[in-house]
Amino acid sequence: MHGNIKSTIFIGREYRLFLYSISLVIAIFVSGIFLGLYYRNGQLIEDEIITTARADISDITLNRRWKETHSGVYAEKKKVINPEKYLDNPDFESMNGKFYTKVGSTLMTAEISILASQEGMLLFHITSLYPLDPKNLADPFELNALKRFNEGLQEAYEKEVINGKVYFRYMSPLYVKQECIECHFEQGYRLGDLRGGISLNYNIEHVQAKLRKNNIIIFALAVITIILLIGIIYLIALKLMKKLSSAYKKIEELSVLDPLTELYNRRYLSFRLHEEVNRAKRYGHYIGCIMMDIDHFKKFNDTYGHQIGDLILQMVARIIKKHCRAEDIVARYGGEEFVIIAPETRVDGVKSLASRLCDFIKQEIIKNSEGKDINVTISVGVAEIFYKEKELPADEAEIIELADRALYAAKAKGRDRIEVYRGTVR
Ligand code: GH3
Ligand code: MG
Ligand code: MG
Repeated sequence: MHGNIKSTIFIGREYRLFLYSISLVIAIFVSGIFLGLYYRNGQLIEDEIITTARADISDITLNRRWKETHSGVYAEKKKVINPEKYLDNPDFESMNGKFYTKVGSTLMTAEISILASQEGMLLFHITSLYPLDPKNLADPFELNALKRFNEGLQEAYEKEVINGKVYFRYMSPLYVKQECIECHFEQGYRLGDLRGGISLNYNIEHVQAKLRKNNIIIFALAVITIILLIGIIYLIALKLMKKLSSAYKKIEELSVLDPLTELYNRRYLSFRLHEEVNRAKRYGHYIGCIMMDIDHFKKFNDTYGHQIGDLILQMVARIIKKHCRAEDIVARYGGEEFVIIAPETRVDGVKSLASRLCDFIKQEIIKNSEGKDINVTISVGVAEIFYKEKELPADEAEIIELADRALYAAKAKGRDRIEVYRGTVR
């Protein structure tokens, strides 16, 4: 049906728009949640390493402080211990003939650093802004961190790839204390000055691998959630749209069909006739029209009852529908009046259709409640209009009026007959 196509397209477009926008909202919402999880995951691990680093730093500083409170400790001088080269006189021989050397906090830290790296725990080293030992020179990360400590920052960290492995680097500042001045006086240290820092390197390869695995799981979960949600909404929407579309179809059918005869109603007829007259006018075509009216129909109603009257109407409608072409517009015009519009059809064609319809209706036998035959005849007005090719506003009423006049003439001439009127619209 003409109107249906339009509404189906309308629903389709609305449906697609709805689906696209809801899919976008879901995708953004779910991605947002999972992106949050992804960052949170990375953040938690970073927090964990930072906590460990702070603990390690406080461990190292406590050890250093202890040494500093004792101005260093004496350790038996074995091969492993190199003498503290920045102390004036670190070695002494005890009464039992053993040699001892003084271990200051710097040497201690350096040695613990070697031990830690040997056990594969972590790498750390002390950096100095003005190093006496070239080993204490700051690398780019440490230099940058020192710069930021000068600006007041209390710690610095970042991830760095060293020799193809991922390290988490952490650095904490060291300030000049009274004890330092004793050894580092020539370097121009003043109390409270930044003099360097403790830098820690954690190999976080295994953590990174776990993080990557977690992130893959998060990504997969996000994709599955999005697909599932969109899928569910798609299915629900599809179901709803199908229901809506069939409800639309039903409404449209109801609005254009006559319930008793299931022919088109007068509203639909004038809508289609308007289109057809416009087309005829644009191309200079003919339109044929049949208007028919059941003879003495009131008498059938009065004699046999309205139910029989309805049956007669349905019978006439069925016969008209059966013998008309698909392009013809067949409508119930009024109570027992029917109109057929035959586009691009000349008067001969329309007249022969009308004559066949008269015969078929006459031949159709309808019985009343007592089993008696009811003979039904119709009067027909046939009209043909030639629409001259012109860009004029169409007046669809003309052809109906002409057919109506022809029908009136058929009635006047005694009914059960066909009258033909022809006209031209300029
Ligand atoms: P004529 O030959 O001059 O056309 O006479 P007629 O009796 O057919 O004409 P008239 O216009 O006087 O009567 C038409 C009747 O059609 C009157 C009305 O009650 C009846 N009618 C209209 N619609 C329906 C319907 O849906 N069902 C039934 N049963 N009757 C209807
Ligand atoms: Mg009648
Ligand atoms: Mg009538």
